[in-house]
Amino acid sequence: MSDDITIILNMDYIDILAFKDISNFDIRNIERYLIYQEENQEYDLATIVTYVNIGLDKKGYSEYSEYTKEEALNDLTILVNKYHKLPDDYEPDDLVALSYHNSYTYYLRSEAAEAYERLQSAALLDNVIIYPFSAYRSYDTQNTLYTRYKERDGEKKADTYSARPGFSEHQLGLAIDIRSNTLTDNLTNNDYEWMLDNSYKYGFIVRYPKGCQHITQFMEEPWHLRYLGIEVATKVHNSGLTYDEYYDLYMKETQD
Ligand SMILES: [Zn+2]
Repeated sequence: MSDDITIILNMDYIDILAFKDISNFDIRNIERYLIYQEENQEYDLATIVTYVNIGLDKKGYSEYSEYTKEEALNDLTILVNKYHKLPDDYEPDDLVALSYHNSYTYYLRSEAAEAYERLQSAALLDNVIIYPFSAYRSYDTQNTLYTRYKERDGEKKADTYSARPGFSEHQLGLAIDIRSNTLTDNLTNNDYEWMLDNSYKYGFIVRYPKGCQHITQFMEEPWHLRYLGIEVATKVHNSGLTYDEYYDLYMKETQD
């Protein structure tokens, strides 16, 4: 508290009252809010606060925190993005193979695997035929993938569609990329709509939705689903927010 007061006393005049109804306002970030607001006058104050809390005033990967293995293992709703890294040697201890397999076997953490199978069956009943394309990926696998993309497209472009090793939800064993039968290298619009409308009922969200690249730092990825459990996935779905925003607004309190 005395630190908080020192921050305010050391600042030039600011309209602190303007922040009073913003639930995720964090006094430690006040200077960053003000700078970010200067640079982004099109945003309202609540948006400024959330975006700065996420870390968006800094370039992705430039400043990040790193979870412990225990944190990663014990929290199925953990936020992983360009500001929150997993330990290089983190590997979930409850990976199970999905019952679908073709030439390759896919793994998810057991709860997510069961949920995925329910999702796939429910989709099938609505004539949406999906199958896994990639699920759990180790740090090393992600490193190989990212390096390949970087060599092919350059770092800047690769960063819009592939996470650097340690920063991928796939390393959590809680993310799955799907394809649909009707369009093999992506999802059809119908299939995508179905996922947007229904995946939360089985505990999944479409993690990188359209028009959110400035928040998620990834291009639209209709095929990438993140498991959060039915309760949280439903709340995220109903909020209309990205998980980065939702986490800052509603999940952080319980984590700190
Ligand atoms: Zn993915």
